[in-house]
Amino acid sequence: MKKIIVANWKCNPTTEEEAKNIFEGTKNSVTEATSEVVVCPPFVFLPILKGLVLGAQNCFYEEKGAFTGEVSGKMLKDLGVEYVIVGHSERRKYFGETDEIINQKIKKALESGLKVIFCVGETAEERGLNRKKEVLEAQIRQGTIGISAQGGPAFGWENIIIAYEPVWAIGTGDNCSIEETRDSIDFIKLFVPTGTRIIYGGSVTSENSGAYIKEAGADGLLVGGASLNAEEFVKIVLSAE
Ligand code: PEP
Repeated sequence: MKKIIVANWKCNPTTEEEAKNIFEGTKNSVTEATSEVVVCPPFVFLPILKGLVLGAQNCFYEEKGAFTGEVSGKMLKDLGVEYVIVGHSERRKYFGETDEIINQKIKKALESGLKVIFCVGETAEERGLNRKKEVLEAQIRQGTIGISAQGGPAFGWENIIIAYEPVWAIGTGDNCSIEETRDSIDFIKLFVPTGTRIIYGGSVTSENSGAYIKEAGADGLLVGGASLNAEEFVKIVLSAE
């Protein structure tokens, strides 16, 4: 199975020129990579970036209508976008996204023909209270209610990738150890159909990236901060070879 390396630019950069520079710097150096490389920029840059697989960082759970400020899966699909990130901890924390909302978004995204990068992970507090496994199980079960394993090409588990992102490791420089990541990935496997790709995210750099793939059993990486530096992101992509 192909590894997948996903760049999550979050709410960056602020200009079209910078976006093009990061994108071109990435694109030109990953053409030979055997992994699938996906770039998830802010919505506004999606129509102007060409030549790599694109993902969105969010989408709404209705197709269209009176929902000011929202963007639907159908709109993204029509634009040529292939993936969408759903359930990122920053959306859970700052935008009040619950497991129920995330479930609605995942179902609608799949129905729209998008592939979903579904983020799960425990907070520092939950980890401290030894609740990691309970949290992971609940997030996965509740986020995928109503999604079948044999649901057909556009509506099922075959189009979901799980991103294990311990919240305490995101943007902190405190990346999860290989042992702990392996433990979480093995645990997640109990709740997803065989063959589901499980990737790791949380302070990934070119120094630690290879070990997640080669030692922790991750099928890929979700890279935030480091993906804004094309040279560093390319090193991360190449470390998965
Ligand atoms: C992310 O935003 O999904 C992420 C993993 O961020 P960072 O790599 O900056 O920790």
